[in-house]
Amino acid sequence: MKVLKFGSTSVGSAERMKDVAKLICTGDRNIVVLSAMSGTTNSLVEISDYLYKKNPDGANEMINKLAQKYDVHIEELYSTDEYKQKAKELIKSHFDYIRTFTKDLFTLFEEKVVLAQGELISTNMMNLYLNETGVKSVLLPALEYMRTDKNAEPDPVYIKEKLANILEENSDADLYITQGFICRNAYGEIDNLQRGGSDYTASLIGAAVNANEIQIWTDINGMHNNDPRVVDKTAPVRNLHFEEAAELAYFGAKILHPTCILPAKLNNIPVRLLNTMQPEAPGTLISNAIEKSSIKAIATKDNITAIKVKSGCMLLVTGFLRKVFEIFENYQTPIDMVTTSEVGVSVTIDNCKHLDEIVDDLKKYGTVTVDKDMVIVCVVGDMEWDNLGFEASIVNALKDIPVRMISYGGSNYNVSLLVKATDKQRALQALSTHLFNK
Ligand code: ASP
Ligand code: MG
Repeated sequence: MKVLKFGSTSVGSAERMKDVAKLICTGDRNIVVLSAMSGTTNSLVEISDYLYKKNPDGANEMINKLAQKYDVHIEELYSTDEYKQKAKELIKSHFDYIRTFTKDLFTLFEEKVVLAQGELISTNMMNLYLNETGVKSVLLPALEYMRTDKNAEPDPVYIKEKLANILEENSDADLYITQGFICRNAYGEIDNLQRGGSDYTASLIGAAVNANEIQIWTDINGMHNNDPRVVDKTAPVRNLHFEEAAELAYFGAKILHPTCILPAKLNNIPVRLLNTMQPEAPGTLISNAIEKSSIKAIATKDNITAIKVKSGCMLLVTGFLRKVFEIFENYQTPIDMVTTSEVGVSVTIDNCKHLDEIVDDLKKYGTVTVDKDMVIVCVVGDMEWDNLGFEASIVNALKDIPVRMISYGGSNYNVSLLVKATDKQRALQALSTHLFNK
């Protein structure tokens, strides 16, 4: 069994839904995870915003606008009056439900219910379409099996057991369709796996059913070796190790949600990134296999601030780093990169909300320097420390660009460098030219 997940743009119009239907009707009884149609979750967030602000008219206007879009989708997607009617009733029931929230108190709890409607609608529409075309597809209600625990983490035991039961009850289906993103929490309330969480759904399901593959379908040919918006001549990476993919996803490769990697990695289920617009393209395969000594890809993280604390007292003294890190912890500010010398430490953060207070407190322990508008450039590949030469080729590629920090040794899969935002394009281009397009 495979799990196939299609993102919002892949189901963004009636035409795209029909393309997806062709891709999923392979004769295999797979599980298909769908996002909401593109723009829908954002609209639902905006509707919620009006409701928080106690502006029911604003919300109603947005709801009507969104509902109108679905009227068009229905006309285009279904060919028989019978199914058009069924779909209209379905959509109406969801939008009527959303409208009920304009009358009452609106809290975080209600917002989650509103957000859940996007995936409930898209999956129901697809299921109806498949039924219209004669496919015996069955909807698996995510709200009955996808669940988080008291720490808001997915509960794999519950998911596995519930899903197995539902699949068994529907063992004669041709195909299963289910909602990404949505779940119930430990208290049984409707909740979600955070924005972009449908990838996570797919990988949790993959782990629960011990799938032989998890496919994430988007509209790009897999994970690229550099940012195609910034650099010319990028290419999809054919194979990535789970750890390499995790580094790239954390460092901003938008194609895959970072949380998606872990369940797949723990259960050793390969993840394939594919393109709905070009289904025959090989895409990227993420697995446990490692390609010895190869540098795979580059990702970046923008809006970084570097903070250096230099202190004569650090020399041969214990506890200096703890005190420094504690300050960041006190202000709930995560640190991304760290480099040290015998007399000081540099760290980077991407959340500057408490920068002034942090700097104030750090001044107790040393001289503080702040560099804003920086970018972390993360070079990913097989970088075991006894592999030779990878550091040299990375640093050499950047020989004409000022580098503020270099970090290696935290993992066997990446070298991170900090450069000025104004040098980002040049740095990425230089790395691509030297590492990939020799
Ligand atoms: N529909 C949700 C979102 O837009 C989940 C997803 O698409 O992955 O964030
Ligand atoms: Mg999405």
